[in-house]
Amino acid sequence: MFEIVKENCYTDNKFISIFSGDFMKRKMKNKLPFNRGPKNLLVGMLIFGVILLLLSRLMNLSRDSDSINYSTFLNKVEAKEVKSVTVSGQDAKGVLTNGKKFETVIPYSQRSWDLLEKNNVETTVVSQAGQLSFWHLFMLISLLITVGFVWYMIRQARNAASGGGGGSGSNIFSMGKSKAKMFLPSSIKENFDSVAGAAEAKEELKDVVDFLKSPEKFKRLGAKITRGVLLVGEPGNGKTLLVKAVAGEANCPFFSISGSDFIEVFVGVGASRVRDLFKQARKNAPSIIFIDEIDAVGRHRGSGHGGGHDEREQTLNQLLTEMDGFQTGNDSVIVIAATNRPDVLDKALLRPGRFDRTVHVPFPDLISREQILKVHIKGIKIDPDLPLHKIARGTPGFSGADLANLVNQAALNASKMKKQMVTMKDFEESRDKIMLGKENKTMVRTPEELKTTAYHEAGHALMTLLLPKVSDPLHKVTIIPRGRALGLSHSLPERDKYVKTKDELLADVKISLGGRVSEELIFNQKTTGASSDFRSATHIVRAMVCSYGMSDLGTAVYSQSREDFTYSSKTAELIDKEVQKILDENYKETFKMLKNNKDKLVKLAQELLDKETLYASDIYQMLDIEPREDHKLIEG
Ligand code: ADP
Ligand code: ZN
Repeated sequence: MFEIVKENCYTDNKFISIFSGDFMKRKMKNKLPFNRGPKNLLVGMLIFGVILLLLSRLMNLSRDSDSINYSTFLNKVEAKEVKSVTVSGQDAKGVLTNGKKFETVIPYSQRSWDLLEKNNVETTVVSQAGQLSFWHLFMLISLLITVGFVWYMIRQARNAASGGGGGSGSNIFSMGKSKAKMFLPSSIKENFDSVAGAAEAKEELKDVVDFLKSPEKFKRLGAKITRGVLLVGEPGNGKTLLVKAVAGEANCPFFSISGSDFIEVFVGVGASRVRDLFKQARKNAPSIIFIDEIDAVGRHRGSGHGGGHDEREQTLNQLLTEMDGFQTGNDSVIVIAATNRPDVLDKALLRPGRFDRTVHVPFPDLISREQILKVHIKGIKIDPDLPLHKIARGTPGFSGADLANLVNQAALNASKMKKQMVTMKDFEESRDKIMLGKENKTMVRTPEELKTTAYHEAGHALMTLLLPKVSDPLHKVTIIPRGRALGLSHSLPERDKYVKTKDELLADVKISLGGRVSEELIFNQKTTGASSDFRSATHIVRAMVCSYGMSDLGTAVYSQSREDFTYSSKTAELIDKEVQKILDENYKETFKMLKNNKDKLVKLAQELLDKETLYASDIYQMLDIEPREDHKLIEG
């Protein structure tokens, strides 16, 4: 429900390349043209060509005339062995005096004619136009095939765009037109109870369920409801599951499609698929449209990786148009999209009235992991004394899907051993197997890394608490990774702030620096995890110096982008010095503050390692700090 305004991120660059690598692979797979029907046609054409070639050879062989070369022909003419010859272009066919037929190629020169005349060869010249040579035939057939191929492709595209396809199964329809799958309420078994943990996501989606249950109520009250929800999270953390659960709770159908399904070889197909999908959804309203991997269509425009981005842009534009239609229309359709790359999305998608609500679906924390395990061991014979809590503790960085897999593997293991029930040992073996497969690939971290992250985040959080008047109230701290961040501490704005004071800006700087300072204070070492913190701190300080007139350099505006305010290199040096000075001062101050509160810092970090996610209220209690007035307001 709250918007996250500040995310102090502990980033690690090694993940960036992995994610983009995966993404490219996915893209490649989806982007290969002719990956369906037309491939058969190509093969067919190839076979046809080979047959044609063989045929031509055969035709040559079956000819009853001998093929002779030019000099042989000349010799025969001079020896008066040639009776007659018919010339068409450079091809010549003739009859020898002994009655045998021959054919040859003769250069188009005067000499040939003279020679033929001199030796009394009966010569006929036919115009080439009247002759249908083999090559003409070949060209004609190739042309026909090409035309046929193009016609076939166009028909395919039209089919894909506007009809065809049929139902499969009784409840899940494959929509031929839009490629979307439609799930009828009767086939949806999931509800919010099927989704373990993910409390925040469920909370945020309750509104959507309420709306879908009784849209009239909302309309009667004139309440505006978000029509587009963006689910952000790494694969396997239950985004699809959540959408199914929403549909199950609201007892309404949902249409599921992947962003990559919109992208076709032909421009216009994607757009018409979008149109059709929305038409179907409106017809079945109240309903949900779920677009998985929306980044496949929703990348910011003008960033096409060669080829096909015209098509993508058209598709994206159509999607935007359809969503804008909700503003005026009366349809009770909710669009939910999922991605793990919100950073690459076109900003237009995130504007009000479109996907204006973002719901994070993070890796599950300790408690959620235990709950997910509980969901998945249902229906499996499990040792009643199995310490689920212990398993949850041993699986940090596992996604929901990993945990489902863990249970499955353990059960397989037990049945292979012909055991009566699944025991801890099976779980341990299965976990080790999965961990091995996940190494370097995901967020599984060493105990040292976890410890560093915990102290880093505790540093941010404690600084927020130590600057109560000027910082945004703390919301929660977590060492559960999300996207590229290994941990986060969130603050919430008490109100929409358009103007910030100098003290508030400096508090933001100190909070940003708190992560690194804490690492240095505790471990006496520096890590790379604080790079984005430094970037944001530097950003704020530079703005203070250059734009807000909040430094010793006075109240001038120093801007490099506007010509009227350019400054000399000497001033540039002064600015750099001033920025450095302010950053240094604040670093020292932060260091002092955290050092004076080291006991609290350690307590907070330890608790984080233990619980993985801490909410502000827990922290106030634990550190015995009086909750902030404004914070009480938010919590209430
Ligand atoms: P995503 O769409 O985010 O990639 P899915 O919704 O497809 O993830 O999740 C894959 C599977 O992982 C689910 O079908 C479910 O079995 C399991 N899973 C993921 N998250 C949860 C959860 N919170 N509770 C229970 N099961 C989960
Ligand atoms: Zn940080």
